Amino acid sequence: MQRSMRKLLCITAHPDDEAGAFGGTLLLYQERGVETSVVCLTAGTAARNRGTAGSNQELAQLRRAEFAASCKVLNVAYGEVLDYPDSKLDRTDLYQVAGDLVLRIRQIRPHVVLTFGPDGGLTAHVDHAMAGTFATMAFEWAGRPDRYAEQLEQGLTPHRAQKLYYYTSDFVLDDRQPIAPPTVTARIEVGKERFEKKHLAFRQHTTQKPLFERVRKNVGQRSEGTIEMYHLAATRDPREGKLEADLFDGVVEDKS
Ligand SMILES: [Zn+2]
Repeated sequence: MQRSMRKLLCITAHPDDEAGAFGGTLLLYQERGVETSVVCLTAGTAARNRGTAGSNQELAQLRRAEFAASCKVLNVAYGEVLDYPDSKLDRTDLYQVAGDLVLRIRQIRPHVVLTFGPDGGLTAHVDHAMAGTFATMAFEWAGRPDRYAEQLEQGLTPHRAQKLYYYTSDFVLDDRQPIAPPTVTARIEVGKERFEKKHLAFRQHTTQKPLFERVRKNVGQRSEGTIEMYHLAATRDPREGKLEADLFDGVVEDKS
């Protein structure tokens, strides 16, 4: 298939997840000619670290700007921060959030979708778990003409992405709530240079400065952090499980 046509969408909970969790992978695939997008569900206003912000509104503004700067470092083609409530995603309406994500999937038309698993991705954050839950439903429903049919009346068509991956690891953090991480089925070697660039992207989130060293240490516990791990959760075309080294393994050109 033509490289220029390949697309990857990453669905996250907070500004900084795109860098801390998925940064190396986003860089790697952009370099391979994949158009990358990130949709983040909250502006991260429940954060303990608030920089110079005096109000939630100011913090949201700062974090949206930091997100844009991080996406620039990661060469993300399209980045968007939605306005769902930080730390309350488990009490947010599933039909509405999944519908917003179905809309983005039908507009962006990715081949591969990345998100967190129901464990909350290493940090056990419930917002991460919920972002993954909403994204999972959106992955399934974007391709069904009977779901959110009103979007189709406005000229959109259903879209079936080919692969859904959850962020995961082959280790857990001792100082967090207990989690059962999704099985590692893909190990992506991003290399030392991209690992450094991912942290450069993370450091664009200046309000989160007190976290910089900790995040670097957390993700670097194995293989110096140059391997990002995923769980293949669903595929459009049924297949047997196998260990992968490339998220676009088996992806074919879309007909539409
Ligand atoms: Zn997060």
